[in-house]
Amino acid sequence: MTTIADRLADAHQRIAQAAQNSSRDSREIQLLAVSKTKPIDQIVAAYDAGQRLFGENYVQEGEEKINALRESHGDIEWHFIGPLQSNKTKSIAEHFDWMHTLSREKIAKRLSEQRPSHLAPLQVCIQVNVSQEQSKSGVNPDEVAHLAEIIASLPRLTLRGLMAIPTATDDVALQQAEFSQMQALFEALKQQHPSLDTLSMGMSQDLEQAIAAGSTMVRIGSAIFGARDYAKA
Ligand SMILES: *Cc1c(COP(=O)(O)O)cnc(C)c1O
Repeated sequence: MTTIADRLADAHQRIAQAAQNSSRDSREIQLLAVSKTKPIDQIVAAYDAGQRLFGENYVQEGEEKINALRESHGDIEWHFIGPLQSNKTKSIAEHFDWMHTLSREKIAKRLSEQRPSHLAPLQVCIQVNVSQEQSKSGVNPDEVAHLAEIIASLPRLTLRGLMAIPTATDDVALQQAEFSQMQALFEALKQQHPSLDTLSMGMSQDLEQAIAAGSTMVRIGSAIFGARDYAKA
């Protein structure tokens, strides 16, 4: 039987191989284990195999898991990677360490106001709508610099970088074009904000292409925890 520990080791192996193929140091690339829809015992299994960064998509589900594991597994770093309704910002500000899907000025200001003073600033990435699909969330590439300025001025947020969910496609050329566009955007933004260190892109199916284009954090769900039982919107 393949265990979560085995699949986690496989994911690390894929990351190491992809890094080597693009002459990168694999220590530059973090693995975010996406545990959405998965029960707490699977998170603990990954934790016991050494995993510390976990990503959740749904505010309430994430909050429940964070509360359940706070005492026993206090060194987990929790990342919110889902689409956000504006009435849920308070829960994110109070529970998560990171937020990858920031794309609106109003939400940024609210998160900064709602971040409790006893916690470190919320670490954020701007989500970019790199595929420019109407249905996708995220800011257009030409709006990134403006939103970055605003976030950088907010006291309780720390801007870390950019995040993207490229078009789901078998068209490798299109995929590479979108990852490359993200890499160029990230490099350009670093001219203004030299402390940025996070390019959040790559999932179970496409982590190799993402790493070739400079990803520093791959978000891996099904390759670690298996297929999700049900798809939520
Ligand atoms: C679900 C999800 C992932 C993980 O996807 P897998 O294909 O299961 O690896 C990564 N990023 C985001 C934003 C997700 O919603």
